[in-house]
Order: sequence, then structure tokens, then C-alpha cells
Amino acid sequence: MMIVPFHVSEMLRRIRQKIRQSGELPRMAPRPEGSRSFRVSPRVTAETVARLHRDLALDAKARETLFGAATAENLPRYAANIENMIGTVSLPVGVIGPLRVNGVNAQGDYPVPMATSEAALVASYGRGARAANRAGGISTAVLYEGVLRSPAFVFATLLEAGQFVDWIVSNIAALKAAAEATTRHGKLVSLEPVIDNNIAFLLCRYSTGDAAGQNMVTIATDALCRHAAAHCPIRPGRWYIEGNFSGDKKASGLSMITGRGRKVSASVVLPEAVVTSVLGTTVDDMLAYGRVANLGALLSGQLGAQAHYANGLAAIYIATGQDAACVAESAVGFTRMEQRESGLFCSVTMPSILVGTVGGGTGLPAQSACLALMGLTGEGNGAALAEVTAATCLCGEISIVAAMASGTFTGAHEKLARLR
Ligand code: NAP
Repeated sequence: MMIVPFHVSEMLRRIRQKIRQSGELPRMAPRPEGSRSFRVSPRVTAETVARLHRDLALDAKARETLFGAATAENLPRYAANIENMIGTVSLPVGVIGPLRVNGVNAQGDYPVPMATSEAALVASYGRGARAANRAGGISTAVLYEGVLRSPAFVFATLLEAGQFVDWIVSNIAALKAAAEATTRHGKLVSLEPVIDNNIAFLLCRYSTGDAAGQNMVTIATDALCRHAAAHCPIRPGRWYIEGNFSGDKKASGLSMITGRGRKVSASVVLPEAVVTSVLGTTVDDMLAYGRVANLGALLSGQLGAQAHYANGLAAIYIATGQDAACVAESAVGFTRMEQRESGLFCSVTMPSILVGTVGGGTGLPAQSACLALMGLTGEGNGAALAEVTAATCLCGEISIVAAMASGTFTGAHEKLARLR
């Protein structure tokens, strides 16, 4: 017997109902007349904001909510980060910790700001942090650094693509110089050509100092490509700055294996007494749930195996002015829990953490205040922020596994999200 999934039959039922009413589905037909689009403007001034408010016919309350005194006062600080600005959106920010991190780059007790509207999230990460602190803190290390851009060059034939790659590998020094002339901190650390018949991709990896680096590597790679296109005797028919190979803003197998941004490993051994007293469960019960969760990850085809890195990443990225869309690529990796003599070994290895302490949105008012409360503002702190981010994700993994193992996951959400 063929089983029609309920959601398909329900959708068809609703469509038929609409068609019965009107004979067709007019709401889905194109409607070219009378549509308008806002002109996109990079100018951000009180006047441009007010003009858009008028265009949108916002009432006074909406204007005040979106564009309060603090936003108006700090307007110039937003100017490089947005077009068509109409105001700012406030999200509550909670804090966990101070989380003790014993890292190669991060050393200390870090209050971690988390911006979210999901009740129970901060409570859960905070509980994980309490357990980790009681165990002496989380050890962390950046294992790899490199932001990828992957331009693509299109030739008439496979032979031309091969000759182009041959030229590229013989001219690395000049290409590196062209790329690095655009930035003080970006360094081309590797260039790996990948040929697919007549198309050559160049996997260009850069260290990016303390910046997350996506703009930096785009500008540098553009210079590299222009140099190649101008000097290589084999001219491409077309070239594109990004061949969609880099994993920028999407989870990819390549990023999981080779990393994009910073690859960080974070670990802690939780003594049984800590698991019992702080997490309300046992090491055996956490391991038993961990086996089921790993099987679920495998069966569902998850890239990696983890519970909810995205929660911690999104909350930290938003609080500290990172590009929140990078959660799409950062939320992959492996959580491990194993029995050790001294307790439960817990680790996360996250290959694609995209964070910076300079550039992007890190200079915005509230976001820079959040970086400052961690003591991770500006020069020299990018790697430490990546380690604190991974350590925080480990806290989230510990807490959620404990909640599942002890059967308290639903109750905690009900209590904190519904019954308050
Ligand atoms: P950025 O703000 O565009 O560039 C960082 C700036 O900081 C550079 O001008 C850099 O100068 C300077 N800088 C000063 N001190 C530094 C230090 N210690 N380490 C590193 N840089 C330092 O930021 P980004 O990190 O390159 O790009 C992040 C932004 O890119 C995010 O807002 C994200 O939304 C956006 N993004 C862009 C793309 C894209 O393809 N263009 C894709 C995804 C996201 P030097 O360059 O001279 O070193």
C-alpha cells in the first residue's frame, strides 16, 4: 500500500478548497501592476531614516520603538553596516558564567553574553557552565585557521583549464603578493586548484588576523583573480569571485573536514559528583543517551554529530556583532562523551567558527559592549573569542544531554517558557 504523507494530502485539500471557492488560484498569479520597491541607499542619516518612516507610514509608537534616543545618538556607528536603515531591533541579552576557560588563546573567567528570545536557553547553557566550572574549567585550542574563498574560472576545454592551473601553480608568489597587497592582516596560506573538466576552482585560504574575514578574503581574492586573468596567457571565458565551493554561509563537507574560519576543540572531564549535583543525572545515563543521539545523527545524515550548537552560536554571534548567517556553516562538528577514570569526558570539535573581534558588526554600540564585558575587544582577541565560543557550545551540549538523560527537557522548557 502506498502511504501519502498527511502533510501532502492536507495541503492538497486546502488548495482544492480555495479553487472550489473561486474556480482558480488567483492569489498565486503574477500581479505586475502597482508594485513598488524601495530604492536601496547606503546613506544612513536621521533624514534618510525619517524619510523611510514616512514612506512606511509608521505611527509614532513604531518610530519611537525602532528608532529610540540611543539609536539616534549612535547613528554614525551603524552607517557602515546597513542600507535603508529604519532603526534597530532589541533582543534580550542574558549572561552565563563567568565561564572558566583554560585555553591556548583564552585564559580566564569569561561572562558570556547571549542574545536570544528563547526562554530556557540561557538557563541551560548557564547550568552547563556551572558544571564545567565545578570541574575546573574548559580546555580549548584553536586547531586551524583559514577563511576560504573559491573563485571559478571557465574555459572552453579541459585542456585550457589544465594549462591555466599549471600557470597558477608556477606563479603562486605573484598571486599571493597581489592578494596580500589589499590587506594588512590577511595572509594567503594556501591555494588549491580543483578542476572539473573545463572549470577550474581555486580554493584560496587566508588567515585573517582578528577579523572574521569574509570581506577581507573577498577583496584579496578579487585582486588575485584579476592578476591571474590579466597575466595568464590562457584567458578564461569568464571568471566568478565565488564558485560556491567555499562553504560560505552553508554547511558543507569540505568545511567539516578542512575547516573554514577557526577550528576549535573544547573539552572537560566532569566528575560523577558534579554530574549528579549540578546536572541531576549520572555519567551512565548521559552516556546511554549519547549513544542514542549519535545513532540519530547518523541515521538522519547529519553533518557531524551534535545536539544544538546553533543555539549557542546564534546567541553569541548576535550579542557580539558577528554575521548571524554564518551559524549556517558554523553549526557543524562533533560532540563526544566518553567514560574516563576521573569522570565523563565531554568535548566539542567545531571546524568552522567564524568570529572576529574587529570588523563586521563588532563596533556597533551594544555589540562592542558585549565584547568588552568579556574583555575581548579589538586587536589580539580573535582566537580567544573563538575558543570561548566553542567552550560555550560545549556547556550547551552538556546541559542538553543531561536534560534528555534525566527526562527533564520538556519540563524545563514548560516551566521557563510557558509557566512564567
Ligand atoms: P571588515 O570590517 O570588512 O574588515 C576588517 C577590517 O579590520 C579590515 O579593514 C582590516 O584591515 C581591519 N583590521 C584592523 N585591525 C585588524 C586585526 N587585528 N585583524 C584583522 N583585521 C584588522 O570585516 P571582515 O571580517 O573582513 O568581514 C566581516 C563582514 O563580512 C561581516 O560583516 C559579514 O557580514 C560580511 N560578509 C561579507 C562577505 C563577502 O563576501 N564580502 C560574505 C559574508 C559575510 P586590513 O584588511 O588592512 O588588515
